[in-house]
Amino acid sequence: MSVLSVVLPAYNEELMIAKTCRVLREVLKDAGISYELVLVDDGSADHTWKEIQKAGKNDTHILGIHFSRNFGKEAAVFAGLAHARGDVIAVMDCDLQHPPQVLPEMYRLWEEGYQVIEGVKKSRGKESFFHKECVGFFYGIMSRATGVDMQNASDFKMMDRQVVESILSMPERNMFFRATSSWVGYKTTSVKFEVQEREAGESKWSSWSLIKYAFTNIVAFTTAPLQFVTVGGAVCFVLSLVLIIYSLIQYFTGHAVEGYTTIVIVMLLIGSAMMLSLGIIGYYIAKIYEEVKRRPRYIIAKIVRGGQEASDTVRQDKSRRQEFL
Ligand code: UDP
Ligand code: MG
Repeated sequence: MSVLSVVLPAYNEELMIAKTCRVLREVLKDAGISYELVLVDDGSADHTWKEIQKAGKNDTHILGIHFSRNFGKEAAVFAGLAHARGDVIAVMDCDLQHPPQVLPEMYRLWEEGYQVIEGVKKSRGKESFFHKECVGFFYGIMSRATGVDMQNASDFKMMDRQVVESILSMPERNMFFRATSSWVGYKTTSVKFEVQEREAGESKWSSWSLIKYAFTNIVAFTTAPLQFVTVGGAVCFVLSLVLIIYSLIQYFTGHAVEGYTTIVIVMLLIGSAMMLSLGIIGYYIAKIYEEVKRRPRYIIAKIVRGGQEASDTVRQDKSRRQEFL
């Protein structure tokens, strides 16, 4: 019989772990699906790890992974995927904002032969205006870069083992899971779901961390900003041609050039355009530097199954330096 693994990244979610496990257990049992829950504690500062251990006591369905520090959600998802043993693997937030009731529906679609089942938001839930605008801008760029409509995409999805292996085999450290899972292809369908209110705890995303996240992922997934630099350069060049011709005409017709203001403006404009461009290029170089260091995406401090330490099952994210040598 097929087993469904549910990967749940958790960062400071002590209030949600017990409830999420209970709800998932009920939903999956009712639907008659054999399952395992892979709870990844992303270096939480609260009692999340204790809660995971408590939930997993005497329950071999629960695998708990404890990071040595906070590595971010993407890393937690990745570690979860690497350790999941199911034939089909679902990823969802552990704050119950992704309704577990949708899992059986996704599972049926998988049984019908779909390999990627994307969860698509019906609406975005309650968000502040600024937040909405930021998110909208980010997804606009991402949608164009990936050719997939990302506006209502989420990290809630179910994937066949084969798809997960493809994702795991990708060597880059900086991975944008949401876009990668559509990049790999395979037979895909989607299921709509309503984003739920967070019941307890708080969102880990401030507007600032969202902006940082957006930049990192844009750079991780597309080189479009580098083309902005080229286009900006071309525009500047055309404008300077106009100005050069104008200045030459002025010179040869004997008009004195009263150019102080113009020169200052032009110099400042071009100067800032150059610095901006250098900044963009620099950002890519920084990311390349991070990638070639081949640091692992995550470090696992502990792993438990059914309350027992299971260090033999650890799949540390081994660096693949040799590929570069
Ligand atoms: N999360 C994580 N590591 C982080 C930040 C968040 O594993 O550094 C997890 C978090 O525990 C939750 C999911 O990612 O299960 C989504 O986070 P959150 O609910 O804060 O985001 P939102 O739903 O507000 O977008
Ligand atoms: Mg949430």
